[in-house]
Amino acid sequence: MSAAIDHLPFELDLDLVRRLDCSGPRYTSYPTADRFIEAFGPETYRSWAEKRNIGGIHRALSIYVHLPFCNTICFYCACNKIVTRDKTKGERYLDYLAREIALHAPLFRDDPAVNQMHWGGGTPTFFTSAQLAQLFALLREQFVFAEDGEYSIEIDPRTVDAEAIMALRKMGFNRVSLGVQDFDPAVQRAVNRIQNEAQTLAVMEAARGAGFLSINVDLIYGLPKQNLLSFDRTLARVIEAQPDRIAIYNYAHLPARFKPQRRINEAEIPSPDTKLKLLALAAQRLTEAGYVYIGMDHFAKPGDALAIAQRQGRLHRNFQGYSTQPDCDLIGLGVSAIGSIGPTYSQNFRDLESYYNALERGVLPIMRGMELTADDLVRRAVIHTLMCHFTVSKDAIEIAHLIDFDRYFANELGELRDLERSGLVELEERWINVTPRGRMLIRNVCMVFDKYLRHDQEVRRYSRVI
Ligand code: SF4
Repeated sequence: MSAAIDHLPFELDLDLVRRLDCSGPRYTSYPTADRFIEAFGPETYRSWAEKRNIGGIHRALSIYVHLPFCNTICFYCACNKIVTRDKTKGERYLDYLAREIALHAPLFRDDPAVNQMHWGGGTPTFFTSAQLAQLFALLREQFVFAEDGEYSIEIDPRTVDAEAIMALRKMGFNRVSLGVQDFDPAVQRAVNRIQNEAQTLAVMEAARGAGFLSINVDLIYGLPKQNLLSFDRTLARVIEAQPDRIAIYNYAHLPARFKPQRRINEAEIPSPDTKLKLLALAAQRLTEAGYVYIGMDHFAKPGDALAIAQRQGRLHRNFQGYSTQPDCDLIGLGVSAIGSIGPTYSQNFRDLESYYNALERGVLPIMRGMELTADDLVRRAVIHTLMCHFTVSKDAIEIAHLIDFDRYFANELGELRDLERSGLVELEERWINVTPRGRMLIRNVCMVFDKYLRHDQEVRRYSRVI
């Protein structure tokens, strides 16, 4: 199928996907987080934060807040979360978060303008509206939030009502993302996420009524007990509710890595062939309903900011996935959160104890990070351009990074010729273009430029591409 609109067309060629499907990173960063090193600590972070505006460079700020608690466990979960019903744990966490904000804020005093913020988890709405409002107020005391910024929060529809939605809007959030996954009760039982369909739809309705600018819904294909008939019904119900964005994630069954997944009955997981058909069905239904393919797992209405940004060549990729905001410096707050200041990445401790310990000592709880080399930067530019626009101008990369593209990437261009023979890319003299059938396999193309992958065989640790 292909999307016949003034947007980038894509085709889902099932044979090609079957043949080329392999493991690969999602490239919300390059290099990927598993390449960060522990030699990068709080002091290196500080020094980069202090010099971020030297030379008149002005980069707006973005903030990510990780709120890790959940009331119950979803068996498919691969997030960094803590399952508890003990609300005092949440209170303690907010106290430490306040200490972390107090350590970051002085580093950004000269230019504290925030254009983008995202709260993820876990389940941010594990906390009460009053607690969330207090946290937002704390951030407002230290940073200046742009009037037209993008402020989003992940919502578990089981934890909110219309009043809580309105409270989030009043705090200043203008985008919401709802976890839905699948409406089929059999699937919900199999993954331990019992989520009433009517309640979910009511939350979406409430978000629209409250004036949220964009509503995103997350679905997952490949879950146990899923079948074409029931997933088609879920898709129909979701499309009827008209969210602005829909993400269709692949369930990657990696029980050795993610403990909760061991509780999934493997016999109930759809076969690889059925999984592909589920994806094809989703792509077909969404395209028929007028959604356009953004890239990776994301679809959006043509009028949504993401689709407009892609058409205008302004789409970006960062830890939140696709974004309309140009490169911001990112402050990561909370356990396991990732930040990015200038040409660096940093990540907080992933366990609460180490995170709390550092803050008690008055030290930023940074566990590891990385200062990107010139080579990392040029490869990141190529990978993110491919991810966002499916085309790369060699001239643009040469001008920005002072390289001779064909010489610098001679090996990569050789590998791309193999992908060209498979129909994923077309290589022109000065352009690399991903074909409509290559777009769903964009990770395969990006992986060619990943120097770290080229040097080792860790590919198997990642989820399958489709
Ligand atoms: S999927 Fe979301 S709600 Fe479920 S356990 Fe994981 S983080 Fe919590």
